[in-house]
Amino acid sequence: MTFTEILKYSIDLLAVLFLALGIKGLSKVRSAREANRLAAVAMTLAVFGVLVNSLGDIGISLTAWLWIVFGSVIGACLGAITAKRVPMTAMPETVALFNGCGGMSSLLVALAVALFSNTTAQLENGLVEKISIGISVFVGAITFTGSIIAMAKLQGWLSTPPWMQSKIRHIVNIALFVLALIAFFEISIGGDRGLFLLVISSSLLGIGVTLPIGGADMPVVISLLNSYSGVAAAAAGFVVRSQLLIVAGAMVGAAGLILTQVMCNGMNRSLISVLFGGAIGVDTSSGEGTAGEYTNITSCSVEECALTLEAAERVVIVPGYGLAVAQAQHTLREVTRSLEANGINVTYAIHPVAGRMPGHMNVLLAEADVPYEQLKEMDVINPEFPATDVVLVLGANDVVNPQAKNNPSSPLYGMPVLDVQDARTVFVVKRGMSAGYSGIKNDLFELTNTSMVFGDAKKVLGDLLVELKELGIGSKG
Ligand code: NDP
Repeated sequence: MTFTEILKYSIDLLAVLFLALGIKGLSKVRSAREANRLAAVAMTLAVFGVLVNSLGDIGISLTAWLWIVFGSVIGACLGAITAKRVPMTAMPETVALFNGCGGMSSLLVALAVALFSNTTAQLENGLVEKISIGISVFVGAITFTGSIIAMAKLQGWLSTPPWMQSKIRHIVNIALFVLALIAFFEISIGGDRGLFLLVISSSLLGIGVTLPIGGADMPVVISLLNSYSGVAAAAAGFVVRSQLLIVAGAMVGAAGLILTQVMCNGMNRSLISVLFGGAIGVDTSSGEGTAGEYTNITSCSVEECALTLEAAERVVIVPGYGLAVAQAQHTLREVTRSLEANGINVTYAIHPVAGRMPGHMNVLLAEADVPYEQLKEMDVINPEFPATDVVLVLGANDVVNPQAKNNPSSPLYGMPVLDVQDARTVFVVKRGMSAGYSGIKNDLFELTNTSMVFGDAKKVLGDLLVELKELGIGSKG
């Protein structure tokens, strides 16, 4: 074994170790920040390992090596700028875009090897390489186009065309899948005509499968696409014979699949129904849906809300997407500090798909130094609502919609929700009567124990803080 090989294997091993520890650390909010840094170091090491390896490879010229360095620097700069500039509310779109980039890289690597590799003779005999090229192109192309469609839908740039909601789309998708299968088979037996057919049919399949999906199913699709990007990378690892890429891709693929399963459980949906069920409800990918007709709404002032809170012993906060939009997490923390200072018990009910990405609310509240122990998951908090005096719903809508339990014809039916209506009093803070992400009416708003407090979440919480101070709340302790 040469010195370069020993160095390369050591770097690879270290990168895999750091990546595994990074992924493990991401499972807890407390360690997530450090874990993310560790995973970033792992990826830097991985790139460094490729550069060291290519130094020892006589097939790689200095120009090619410089191209790799140039590409890595440009990619790193673009990634850093995007990550710095993107607001928290646009994170799912960014994740979708990054997944798409991962899929595209695997697709391009496999295509480059298939078209330009010097090791064609070796490939002609290697069934594993041919199959790996096929998988990499197939999954990479689906991931790329699927992720771009998911991003465009989340941004509100695209909506589902009516024919995509009909059964015809299944026939089109099956036809594309059969075409891709034929092309895949052609590549496996050594043909070269199937390559572009595979690229085109898989790319169209990615669009055909993702375009009809909308509403509350989008988080599942994003985590599934994340898993696909890992599978594509692992297959690309077989193509370029990089153990590191195989291991890293497999880890991302498996982690994405587990997250997909967790999300499916959180929404009480099967993966099959997400993928083949199409868009649920009105297509509201932009979140601009109408709420339907409300006939019996009670609204109240911030002052009334403060008076009810003053008399409460147990308060549950339900954060939602609107809280993130308003960036009201720090003001919320000040309000809850005041309540706690007066001996009021405060907890936060976290729905698994509140916000626009998995863990959105956890991250938001962690940013405002909310103690992790006060965050309660849906299954834990639901039985506690009957013993709760006041629930403060802040910019949340779908995740507290009783239709999900009571109305079998509702598009949300079956999705587990927070049973806030069981509490004595519910205050819903939002700007108006517009719908949430799924675009449907919320029966909670018409219940007798619900009062709407209209306004931007940050403004309402700021006013609430003033009212609480005037009542002497927060001055004790
Ligand atoms: P929703 O999207 O259902 O509702 C958010 C509410 O916030 C809206 O009704 C809006 O009403 C209100 N709002 C918006 N801006 C403000 C503001 N500045 N101040 C106060 N209120 C505001 O959010 P939920 O968190 O309840 O539900 C999440 C939904 O998103 C679910 O359907 C989920 O499936 C879906 N989703 C989740 C993802 C995830 O991974 N977590 C990813 C993608 C989608 P108004 O305009 O009247 O103020």
